[in-house]
Amino acid sequence: MTDRTIVSCEDCQHVYTARVRDDGGLILPTPGNACGCGCESFAKVTAQQI
Ligand SMILES: [Zn+2]
Repeated sequence: MTDRTIVSCEDCQHVYTARVRDDGGLILPTPGNACGCGCESFAKVTAQQI
């Protein structure tokens, strides 16, 4: 099973739905696992319905 989580870019706050790997890593639906702005750091958004 693969969990999904909502994350936001720590730079531009763009929100993505990411998948969580078994080792806890995030899989972004973007090339190179990076935001469109080039940032590769994401904060999880929890307890919110979007
Ligand atoms: Zn960004």
